[in-house]
Amino acid sequence: MEIFALGEGSYSVDSSKKFIPFNPATDNAKDRPGSLFIHVNPFLIKTERDLIVLDAGLGIKNKQGELWLHEHIRNAGFAPSEVTLVIMSHLHYDHSAGLVVERNGKLELSFPQALHVIQQGEWDYAMSGKSTSYHLDILQTLQNGAKIEFVEGSGELKPGIQYELSGGHTEFHQVFWLEDGDQKCFFGGDELPEPEQLLRRFAAKYDYDGRKAMELRDEYGKKAAAEGWICLFYHAKSTAIGKVNYESDAFTIAAY
Ligand SMILES: [Zn+2]
Repeated sequence: MEIFALGEGSYSVDSSKKFIPFNPATDNAKDRPGSLFIHVNPFLIKTERDLIVLDAGLGIKNKQGELWLHEHIRNAGFAPSEVTLVIMSHLHYDHSAGLVVERNGKLELSFPQALHVIQQGEWDYAMSGKSTSYHLDILQTLQNGAKIEFVEGSGELKPGIQYELSGGHTEFHQVFWLEDGDQKCFFGGDELPEPEQLLRRFAAKYDYDGRKAMELRDEYGKKAAAEGWICLFYHAKSTAIGKVNYESDAFTIAAY
């Protein structure tokens, strides 16, 4: 399989939950007190049967008004219309905004031909309007026109694609394994968002179940090392695609 990171760059987020572009070369983090800094990397995978987008980013546009995501897919040698599957770890805004694109004041699907794979419980909770981490206008656009496959729990989506209800970062968060030939790729979404999170153990407040998320990181990290998985880190600063090594109680990550 071929794997591409579709990096959308770096952002700061403050209590308003707005994502403001942050250029480490010219912007100063000290000018944005109380902000979290994040990096956003959706992924594109070409397998023998499918062209797959894994989480959809913030939906940032380039100067021509085209989605960066679409531009990156073209640069990788494909057309956005060739995407057959969009698999979603969860539906928080920074993972789902790129599922739609605003054209002439209207939201349209970014991947109208693709099947969108969403965990049922995540969808139900997002649609309930109980959390501002989800944007209903995005979800309604999906509901009105997208091909969606709602999955429940854990299982096999199709040969070579497994999903597991992980439930750490959000109650119905899911992770995926994609297998093609002798390669096995792991997409942990926000259960394993950046390599640094393997290097120290901590329970995070932004997780639905901080303790469980912490334990999952450890478990996935150890299995990734033992079985040689290629890991995709959605919020990685630098190493978005990597292999994990675990030796003498310590993780190290090498770029793949
Ligand atoms: Zn999230």
